[in-house]
This record gives sequence, structure tokens and C-alpha cells, in this order.
Amino acid sequence: MPQYIIGRKGNQPFKIPPTATGVSGEHAKLLIENGCWTIEDLESTNGIFLRDDKGDFNRIFKMQLSEDAVVRLGNGGYHSYTFMLYRVLAPAGDFSYEFMKIQEIAQQLISLEAKQETVASRNNWIARCSGIGAVLLCSAASSLFHINIDLGIRYMLIASAPVLVGILFQGDAAKLKEIRGRRRKLLVCPNCGRPLSDYEIEQRQCSSCKAK
Ligand SMILES: [Zn+2]
Repeated sequence: MPQYIIGRKGNQPFKIPPTATGVSGEHAKLLIENGCWTIEDLESTNGIFLRDDKGDFNRIFKMQLSEDAVVRLGNGGYHSYTFMLYRVLAPAGDFSYEFMKIQEIAQQLISLEAKQETVASRNNWIARCSGIGAVLLCSAASSLFHINIDLGIRYMLIASAPVLVGILFQGDAAKLKEIRGRRRKLLVCPNCGRPLSDYEIEQRQCSSCKAK
């Protein structure tokens, strides 16, 4: 039943750099019992934060997590320390498990992005065709219902249709941007925290700190 006290004065098998002043001496307790990983805040000054699927960190106090959960000790910036829980079992300087997980996340993001890009190109197509749609609607109105739409209004409708359709699809555009933004937050070096390029992810090595 391995149990670790994680902190600047903790007994975890990795070093927390002296620059991480936001980490308390005894910051958190990590208990591994029957394959269950539980982390608990030891009333630290700056708290424990769990990274979610979108790359945002949310404060936790005591929680059962999986070994690939990414946790930050402290409230962000250079004074915090972020690590994947599995680090307590990994040999020193061996980040292969973390890089494998990063590759998995990268794959998921690629397929999410591809799906959303399909939606975006469909939306673009609809927006481009909406001008013609407006023309057809105006002719239908006049031939079927004998409503004569003023020429000026017709032009206005035709010109503004793509803009109006664009507004309708704003949510989809925001979603695509949000998915792309996740890359920056999730695909970072497990050692130095720097965002990784596609090449580095493929090679499973950070070109800056050389972690692999
Ligand atoms: Zn690095």
C-alpha cells in the first residue's frame, strides 16, 4: 500500500524544484490501494488542482483518480508544480508513460478537430448558398402567395443572408477554436510544461529539456 507525502519536504521519488515556492512542504498525500489512487490536500497554502479534458484546472480537496490524472500543486504559474500521478512509479527521468498518454490525447484531439472541421465546411457551404436561397424564397413568395417584395428589400435579404447564417453557426466556429485551444493546454512537456510540436509528440521527446 504505497503512500507518498508530496511536497517540497515530501517523500515522493522525484524532486520538486526550489523555484516551485507555491508548493507547501507537505502539500498532498497520495495513497495507492488496490489499484485506486487517492490524492488528498494536506491543508496546503495554495491547494491542489485537477486538469480536466479541456485543459483547465479545477480545485480538488480529496479525490479518487486514475494514474494518468494530471494534478497541479499551487494556483498556477512558475511557482506551481504540475505532474501526472504516475510519476511516483516512473523511473527517474523516464517520461515514456507520460509521452504515450500525450500521444493518445493528441489522437483524440485530431479526430475531434476533424469532425468539427466537417461541420465548419458544411456551414460555409450553407452560408454561401443562402444568397441563392433568399432569391428563391423571394420568387416563391411572389409566385405562390402573390407577395411582391420590394427590389431594395430583396437585395438586402440576398446580401445579408450569408451574414445571418454565419451568426447562426457562431457556436460551431467557437467550438472549433476551443478544440484547437486545447492543444496548447493539454499537449505540453511532462517535464518542463512547454507546449509540444506534432514532431516532438511523434518522437516522444521534448526538444527543449530533452525529456523522453
Ligand atoms: Zn520539456
